[in-house]
Amino acid sequence: MAGIVSIFEEDGFSAERLFKQGYSYTYDDVIFLPHYIDFPTDAVKLATKLSRNVELSIPCVSSPMDTVTESSMATAMAAVGGIGIVHYNNTISQQTSFVRNVKSHKIPFSAELIFVAPSDSITSADEFATSPCIFVTETGTQKSKLLGVVSKSDWEAVRDKEARVSSYMTKSPVTLPSSYSFDDVAGYLAAKELNFVPLVSDDDDEIVNLVARSDIERIRGFPKMGLPSLGADGRFLVGAAVGTRESDKERLEHLVKAGINAVILDSSQGNSIYQLEMIKYVKQAYPNLDVIGGNVVTMSQAQNLIQAGVDGLRVGMGSGSICTTQEVCAVGRGQATAVYKVSSVAEKSGIPIIADGGISNSGHIVKALVLGASTVMMGSFLAGSSEAPGNYVNQGDVRVKKYRGMGSLEAMIKGSDQRYLGDTAKLKIAQGVVGAVADKGSIMKFIPYTMHAVKQGFQDLGASSIHSAHDLLRSGTLRLEVRTGAAQAEGGVHGLVSYEKKSF
Ligand code: 5GP
Repeated sequence: MAGIVSIFEEDGFSAERLFKQGYSYTYDDVIFLPHYIDFPTDAVKLATKLSRNVELSIPCVSSPMDTVTESSMATAMAAVGGIGIVHYNNTISQQTSFVRNVKSHKIPFSAELIFVAPSDSITSADEFATSPCIFVTETGTQKSKLLGVVSKSDWEAVRDKEARVSSYMTKSPVTLPSSYSFDDVAGYLAAKELNFVPLVSDDDDEIVNLVARSDIERIRGFPKMGLPSLGADGRFLVGAAVGTRESDKERLEHLVKAGINAVILDSSQGNSIYQLEMIKYVKQAYPNLDVIGGNVVTMSQAQNLIQAGVDGLRVGMGSGSICTTQEVCAVGRGQATAVYKVSSVAEKSGIPIIADGGISNSGHIVKALVLGASTVMMGSFLAGSSEAPGNYVNQGDVRVKKYRGMGSLEAMIKGSDQRYLGDTAKLKIAQGVVGAVADKGSIMKFIPYTMHAVKQGFQDLGASSIHSAHDLLRSGTLRLEVRTGAAQAEGGVHGLVSYEKKSF
């Protein structure tokens, strides 16, 4: 192919030339020209690295936001081969319990674990949320002794809805050890004709998972996308975010004990003395823990953090769907340019890049990865899934879940303002909004389909892996162009009176 490249090198632009022109390009601004296909789609490998020492089988990371990543999301992300980064807009004990929860799972579940005390009553079916049952423990918390279980059907049969759960719960319910494999649990549910079974941790009999028969059917129906993300100890990989304050050192100590595999130092502008000092502290205190710095969008920001010792970099400023930083502060960069520029520095030091924010379709993922990222971090793309925190509500005809920026006033009032350097500020200035996203179903289903679409994009480009895409781009073999407004309109559905858009 080398000869063909040299003959047609005037067709399209090399990335180097395109990104030198002084424009800030977003993913939608640029388009790749197709290259040469000599392998099938399934030959494309998306295995990658989150950071220097954390390997993933797919390049997907869920964002540390309080409407995106708690334990359900992080468990499911690890189950499909990516990783979730648990947010820190909570107490240390809440964040570490989310991490522990992920670590104790092997079977991805869709139900919430709900606990009540024996003297409580269940007055509405809504209290079951997505769960087929509610657990009754001595103190009404996950950590205390299990006394019984109330299934939704048992509750429906109870006439006095004010009655204490202790008067009608099923005492001493059947449980299985959480170390059981998916097939063992599925076999048990089928043999005993049970609708669900709780799983307990091997060491202290704490309820850590709930597997319903519908979960078994759901998981069996999912397209297989490769291996789950497991550490050397066979447990799911999980990351967590912390800030750069003194108090975050204590938070980090607890998170490390809970077993995190990587920590993200969360800041909207990571090139600060606070972050540089925190990177050095983490590397010295926990030499075996990968530390990911950011956010950065320029080569010099990246270089500073690399010199301080980061194992990964998070790239993006102002590109998030809920973000108003560029409007409020006049600072940031188009995400395509940011990913390309930062990766051209990071690649030389072998530091993987996370392209953070601005992903709304599989094409954006292809663009981020080919332009130099090793993974993409997503918020809005995942926030409407059943694994995201919060309940669905109806907005007109659409089922939605809340999705909010961590720099929105609402989130900052709960404590997330340090990401936006509000540590000494009395006045909180919003850099994000509160919104809602449509129900997308389970990530266990749409992430594998999305990855298949990404593989097709790679195939069109003649790239059989993320590494080979980076090589093709840097060598100038892959060509790209800027799309005019009309070209962008042409690249979407147009000219129809109506249509239905189903992705898979
Ligand atoms: P999305 O995937 O929704 O386009 O973007 C998610 C990313 O936006 C997050 O990973 C984070 O980097 C960024 N982000 C989250 N909340 C806020 C916010 O309130 N303001 C800004 N500027 N960025 C945010």
